[in-house]
Amino acid sequence: MDVLTKKERSKQMALVRSKDTKPELLVRRLVHRLGYRFRLHQRDLPGRPDMVFPSKKKIIFVHGCFWHGHTCRLGRMPKSRLEYWVQKIARNHQRGLAVVRQLRAKRWRCLVLWECQLRDLDKLTVRVRHFLESRI
Ligand SMILES: [Zn+2]
Repeated sequence: MDVLTKKERSKQMALVRSKDTKPELLVRRLVHRLGYRFRLHQRDLPGRPDMVFPSKKKIIFVHGCFWHGHTCRLGRMPKSRLEYWVQKIARNHQRGLAVVRQLRAKRWRCLVLWECQLRDLDKLTVRVRHFLESRI
């Protein structure tokens, strides 16, 4: 059973949908603390990427597991209106992949971080640093 009522669920969805989601804020704070400067949601790039590092030509996306259909516990579908969510999330997932493809074609390097990968801050720090410092 869905633990949330319909009303609670839509309230939660509305929260998750907003731009400055919690997972994204967490990554932003971490990257900022590491001393990197970035631009937010640059409009002239495909998908308005979450964090853009212009001089490095690198981009970090933070994907909510539910919204982008990650194959983890957080990405599980709600029981109600299953078909609706399956379609919606499949579209988000496809769009996300297409955006990364377009950016890579324009020689941007992209790192996609999933919400469920943010719990281990040490690991996350190593990953972000490695991504931003590597020259490949
Ligand atoms: Zn996940």
